[in-house]
Amino acid sequence: MEYEGNIIKFNEGLENLIDNIELDGVNCVLDHKDDKKRDAIEYLCQKFKDKHGKIDTLRIPICGECAEALCGTGWVLLFCIYCGRSQWVYRPKAKLKYGKDVHVIWMDICPFCSEVTDNYDDVK
Ligand SMILES: [Zn+2]
Ligand SMILES: [Zn+2]
Repeated sequence: MEYEGNIIKFNEGLENLIDNIELDGVNCVLDHKDDKKRDAIEYLCQKFKDKHGKIDTLRIPICGECAEALCGTGWVLLFCIYCGRSQWVYRPKAKLKYGKDVHVIWMDICPFCSEVTDNYDDVK
């Protein structure tokens, strides 16, 4: 994926981030503690500007459990746009205090990406 970071901040409600078209046979891609496949029930969406300045939408298939966690107040989802990795943060135990309206933190890069990038630099 070639998103270069220009995240358009959303002030729309969480309901506007949800889209549920064409979900047959699609599995949830978010982080779960086990490897069990879970049918996606909807998409989590976010708009981005690509490097040509065009607005593009990222659609992430999510399952019922994840949708529930997103809508609840206990969890914040960290999602890396670059590599697609995700991580759930439990608010009461989080080091950072997230606002009540924050459900997803979109990252351009995560610890995993930076590790890969470092390795790549070594090879050059
Ligand atoms: Zn899920
Ligand atoms: Zn990443």
